[in-house]
Amino acid sequence: MNDRHKAPEGGIIIVSACLAGVPCRFDGLSKSYEKIKELVKNEKTILVCPEQLGGLTTPRVPSEIKGEKVFSKTGTDVTAQFNRGAEITLALAKEYGCKSAILKSRSPSCGKGKVYDGSFSGRLIAGNGFTADLLLKNGIEVLTEEEI
Ligand code: SF4
Repeated sequence: MNDRHKAPEGGIIIVSACLAGVPCRFDGLSKSYEKIKELVKNEKTILVCPEQLGGLTTPRVPSEIKGEKVFSKTGTDVTAQFNRGAEITLALAKEYGCKSAILKSRSPSCGKGKVYDGSFSGRLIAGNGFTADLLLKNGIEVLTEEEI
């Protein structure tokens, strides 16, 4: 384990479901990683997809954060669904005493530190996804799959 790689704190860990093989991404696919699947097999985890929890369909039109809001690529304001997904994830984290989460990097829900800039051109800017941000503000450690 080098400096870039960290272990999550103990207890039940919240995990972005797409990282563990759940086909919940906007395109109806997963983005699974062996190391995350191993972690799910060996640790107590809760798999969440905040965008599904917020009421969005799968597949769905991709969305990006613009300012304080989130818009789909076709211009629909989906801020309410992103907020709802974040709040449900936080409620689960509190219910089960989770101290840490492993969330998918760069997602407008799950990303930490960098997100797409709202232009749907692949450009990244500093910022957190809605769910990552809410968890961080409530004292929950957030790691991305790139930090594990
Ligand atoms: Fe994965 Fe999070 Fe996007 Fe759901 S909202 S598909 S868990 S990155």
